[in-house]
Amino acid sequence: MKDVVLTGDRPTGPLHLGHYFGSLANRVELQDVHPMYVLIADYQVITDRDLPGQIQRNITELLLDYLAVGLDPAKVTIFRHSAIPELNQLMLPFLSLVSVAELQRNPTVKDEIAHSSQRAVSGLMFTYPVHQAADILFCKGTLVPVGRDQLPHVEMTRLVARRFNERYGEVFPVPEAMMGEQPLLRGLDGGKMSKSRGNAITLSATEDETAALIRKARTDTDRLITFDEAHRPEVANLLTLAALCLGRSPQDLAEEIGYGGAAALKRLVTEAVNEFLRPIRKRRKEHAEYDVRQILAEGNERARERAVTTLDEVRAAMGF
Ligand code: ATP
Ligand code: MG
Repeated sequence: MKDVVLTGDRPTGPLHLGHYFGSLANRVELQDVHPMYVLIADYQVITDRDLPGQIQRNITELLLDYLAVGLDPAKVTIFRHSAIPELNQLMLPFLSLVSVAELQRNPTVKDEIAHSSQRAVSGLMFTYPVHQAADILFCKGTLVPVGRDQLPHVEMTRLVARRFNERYGEVFPVPEAMMGEQPLLRGLDGGKMSKSRGNAITLSATEDETAALIRKARTDTDRLITFDEAHRPEVANLLTLAALCLGRSPQDLAEEIGYGGAAALKRLVTEAVNEFLRPIRKRRKEHAEYDVRQILAEGNERARERAVTTLDEVRAAMGF
């Protein structure tokens, strides 16, 4: 049977190289082979912040990022959370299938709480992984291209699917996560590259902005460049970035730089990243003119139809 692919992003800011090598590259390949849904998770934004007045702009920018990397709305259903109320209705029975202890144990949720600027942790922070189960299961998704931080959430979805089927009869497939070439790309501060942590090389930045960011990245004073993740994580991280963009190994690049020191390393990384992103950035500009709102309206409609069918099935299975 053909896989159904579901994945998505929060509209919290511009997409970056972590997204590209963690998930976007896989999506672009899969869209030719499988039915695919891409979710703009706008409700998930309010787990740990408010972005009133900014959310529409972020969604437009996110759509432009999708088009820039080559996602094709003719092949992919792109939709937003808040346009599909059935997702929230699915969340309710799903919440009854997991324990509070299971919600509290999620390591990604713990990490996000640690990095959050909000003092009070919202209830949604603990329940959004179940929301995500609804996102994946509404379309009977079987394959979920994501970065490593999402593995606990996909595990939660598998748990919900299994328990639902056990309790009410076989309705859902049990989906698999699919990790990208680089399941955890680190940012210029050494932590997970994230939209909201100010450490990301974004797809839409200019070449000068990219150069300035890389110039500020931390390195060390050893002139001989080596790839040593344990002892020289900052240098190793920069080498990894360049290697991904060039399709080469970081060890190779280190040898090539030799005694060039941090300056030569940063020059190489800047050139590699800007070269890699050039066609993506060019395509992004070409698309900026298109009416991306229409793409979303059509995607919302298709996703909603699918969600209504699944919710009917769920209600019938539960005897409602
Ligand atoms: P935020 O900081 O607002 O949570 P984010 O950068 O974590 O933003 P998300 O929208 O939460 O981005 O994640 C979208 C997808 O991209 C997920 O599948 C996630 O696993 C993947 N992803 C995000 N950051 C990275 C990264 N640094 N390396 C690999 N994959 C990543
Ligand atoms: Mg995130």
